Amino acid sequence: MLVLKFGGTSLADSEAISRACRITRDRAGGGALVVVSAMGQTTDQLSLCAQGGPANACRLLQALRDDALATAGSLLGSAERDELAAAVDRIFGGANALVRRLSSPGGPPTPSADLDALLACGERVSSWIVTLALRRRGVDAVRLDSRALFVTESRHGGAAADFDRTKVRLLSAALPLVRNGRVPVMGGFIARDAYGEATTLGRGGSDYSAALAGAALAASEVQIWTDVDGVMTADPSLIPSARSLPVLSLREASELAYFGGRVLHPSTMLPAIRHGIPIRVLNSMRPHGSGTLIVPAAPEAPQVVKSVVYKENITLIDIHSTRMLMAHGFLARIFAVFERHETAVDMVSTSEVSVSLTVDRPDKVPAVLDDLASFSHAEENGGKAIVCVVGEGIRYTPGIAAKVFDALEGIRIRMISLGASRVNIGFVVDEGDLEACVRRLHATFFEQPASSGGESCE
Ligand code: ASP
Ligand code: MG
Repeated sequence: MLVLKFGGTSLADSEAISRACRITRDRAGGGALVVVSAMGQTTDQLSLCAQGGPANACRLLQALRDDALATAGSLLGSAERDELAAAVDRIFGGANALVRRLSSPGGPPTPSADLDALLACGERVSSWIVTLALRRRGVDAVRLDSRALFVTESRHGGAAADFDRTKVRLLSAALPLVRNGRVPVMGGFIARDAYGEATTLGRGGSDYSAALAGAALAASEVQIWTDVDGVMTADPSLIPSARSLPVLSLREASELAYFGGRVLHPSTMLPAIRHGIPIRVLNSMRPHGSGTLIVPAAPEAPQVVKSVVYKENITLIDIHSTRMLMAHGFLARIFAVFERHETAVDMVSTSEVSVSLTVDRPDKVPAVLDDLASFSHAEENGGKAIVCVVGEGIRYTPGIAAKVFDALEGIRIRMISLGASRVNIGFVVDEGDLEACVRRLHATFFEQPASSGGESCE
């Protein structure tokens, strides 16, 4: 069986939804389960509702509701339209109450269960629309409420899934349907914790939902339907000559996603790696393309470097302590500060006299620096970017680092790391140098005839 996940752009209007339905109908022969994102920019709009005043929020909600019904109108018959209108009114009725609470003075903090419940409305609506549109097109679709199936830790704004519990629920609610030739349809991204409070898997998290479903049901493939031809050698908006990659390993895809690959949510690969489920990234505008296949072990390719990725808005923190540095326990104290402020560290490097690390949450930096100041001297440098070249072959191919640094001649590099997985070489540069770095690296590894990036030793 297949898990088919459709992203926001693949459901942005009625034409896109029709295409998604056709893709599902064509591929559901061997069993399929559908996971949908919210339509278009719905989640962004919902999060705006939580920020403005109540009057503004009500207007926005009304517009979203009208838009959902208008988009679905041409896809459905009148009985289905009535069924949808009833569901949409229920969902938006609840959203209005949430918005009132969220925008009242002294309302819940963000992130919160209320905000997660508000953001969930997008997927709740799109899963209704897709289910009814599929039925109209002869597919025996059944809508399942993912909030009753996906269980997460108790954390708001982006929780990790409890795979074992989720699996039990999916096996009992979804598998029998698939076995009977029916097609379950569910919203991605949305879930509840073990106490029944609303949670989400974090922005972009429907990919993660799809991978969890694929792993739980032992799908033969999880297909992520999006608006690009798969995973690319670089961001095509920066590098027009970037091309899509036919195959990648899950480890490569995981590094790419984490360091700004943009196509897949970084947690997507975790269940896929653990359960050996292949993922395919496909373009819903060109359904006959083969996209990018992401498999546990990619075949050896002549192209050592697979992609150049980047992440902006990075802050570099340099920590000095002449007294304490390299004393045992010093790094533990540093990381305890980041732990306390729930701030993930992307890259770390240590020298005799300092520790440097990067974070992608500038909003957390002042509080982190305050705490670090109690036992060290810490300085922040904002406006940085991480650039990474990613490829399994980096680990056993001599000369890749030399090529990278040749390409970057004259650019000030602030920090370098060869990840423990040795699937990537990453470095920190000023944001102003980012574009030049990506261009030069893409030219070095992908635009020259002898561009294999060094001969493989194996
Ligand atoms: N709708 C959610 C978002 O926009 C989740 C997703 O699309 O993957 O972040
Ligand atoms: Mg996405």
